[in-house]
Amino acid sequence: MSTLRVLLLGGTSEARGLAARLIKDGVAVTSSLAGRVAEPRMPVGPVRIGGFGGVDGLRDVLANFDAVIDATHPFAATISANAVAACTTGGVRRPLLRLQRRGWEDRSSPSWHWVDNHPHAATEAARLGNRPFLTVGRQRLSEFIPALEKSAVLARVVDEPDIVMPASWRIINDRGPYDLVGELAALRDHRADVLVTKDSGGEYTWPKLAAAEALELPVVVVRRPRLPDGVPIVSHVEAAVAWLHTVDTSLPR
Ligand code: NAP
Repeated sequence: MSTLRVLLLGGTSEARGLAARLIKDGVAVTSSLAGRVAEPRMPVGPVRIGGFGGVDGLRDVLANFDAVIDATHPFAATISANAVAACTTGGVRRPLLRLQRRGWEDRSSPSWHWVDNHPHAATEAARLGNRPFLTVGRQRLSEFIPALEKSAVLARVVDEPDIVMPASWRIINDRGPYDLVGELAALRDHRADVLVTKDSGGEYTWPKLAAAEALELPVVVVRRPRLPDGVPIVSHVEAAVAWLHTVDTSLPR
């Protein structure tokens, strides 16, 4: 497997875990980051940063790789769709795997309110409380302003938002990791009456949900976008490594 050239679409802890594992195994993996975050957590090994320029740009890059693993965030739907289009249509086709951590659906609580999109999450949060704690990422904040403009919002984001926030909103910049004690303090200090999150899944951001449960707060959870059909999916690094062993490097490229 050591001659295999792998393009790893990243930006997640799973992607960093897989990059470290493949580099250790001597695989020629290149991680790709979007370049959204000012100081991203860097994976081990070679990294390229920035968009490809849509499906055609990604397709051009595929000539340099034998296989692609899409380990982007469950809510990064555009790059996942582009990866499917680039790898499965046109002249340069490549084996594609989706590495995606499990969601939280099977850990759902009766106090969770599932919604299909961010604008619906905003109206649901406005219905449930007046002091929401928003943990949906910087790029989606604007979708919460119409419904929550007058609410005492606490929004936690990695980088400062590039839009003007309502006067009643407070922004904190943080990127975790988070623990239960800290999340309880954040919810209590703000006197939050509702937590808003997306179904990111995994353990890394789970403590806020445990804290909301302990404080008996309602939670609004945005469902994941649907994955494109026809792509094998695994949820662990080891399963992704096993899939790479099945990729036939003798195929014409
Ligand atoms: P997106 O909406 O699916 O993608 C928008 C555009 O960003 C893509 O069309 C592509 O540009 C570029 N892009 C995205 N991921 C890329 C990657 N790994 N390498 C190169 N280009 C990439 O993505 P997003 O939701 O903005 O997320 C951006 C990145 O942040 C992703 O890599 C994701 O893993 C990470 N992230 C996202 C979230 C989230 O909640 N969305 C949370 C944590 C981390 P071109 O069309 O020009 O190729």
